[in-house]
Amino acid sequence: MSDLKYLSHYPPALLLQVRTLLDEGRLGSWLRQKYPDRHDIATDKALYQFVADLKQRYLKNAPLPSKVLYDNRQHPLKGTLGTNTTISRVQGGKLKSKSEIRIAALFRELPLPFLEMIVVHELSHLKEKDHGKAFYQLCVHMLPDYHQLEFDLRLWLTWRESQPDDDASIIPNGNK
Ligand SMILES: [Zn+2]
Repeated sequence: MSDLKYLSHYPPALLLQVRTLLDEGRLGSWLRQKYPDRHDIATDKALYQFVADLKQRYLKNAPLPSKVLYDNRQHPLKGTLGTNTTISRVQGGKLKSKSEIRIAALFRELPLPFLEMIVVHELSHLKEKDHGKAFYQLCVHMLPDYHQLEFDLRLWLTWRESQPDDDASIIPNGNK
């Protein structure tokens, strides 16, 4: 039986409901019903455009990341779904900084709202380093459903890990 490690910060009563859905084998179909649509942002180029559009809409003053990519090494089991790094170096007497956003490759297969959620998370880090109040306010400003989506993403990860290893699909009931 899988534990609910992705959900450990949520109230016990809620976890009990999740446990019930999971044990009755209904979590996957519930998620598929709530999030039926996939996206076609498949390449790093398309991902860059997606991130750039969101940034321009909400964070006009923040610099555009120089690189955005899907990364196979980012994995929820290792505790990373995305990273955001800024490298500063002196170039021609000026301090230049480059930032890079990496998104776990599994988001390529997940429904659009989850991709939006993780992108909004990483974009917010352009302004706020820590996961403090200002950080989450920024997330919610860009994506009003942010907290619900984070919870549902954790549900999705929980569901996915409860599946047998030979089921490579991360879409419930193989709805590709
Ligand atoms: Zn973060």
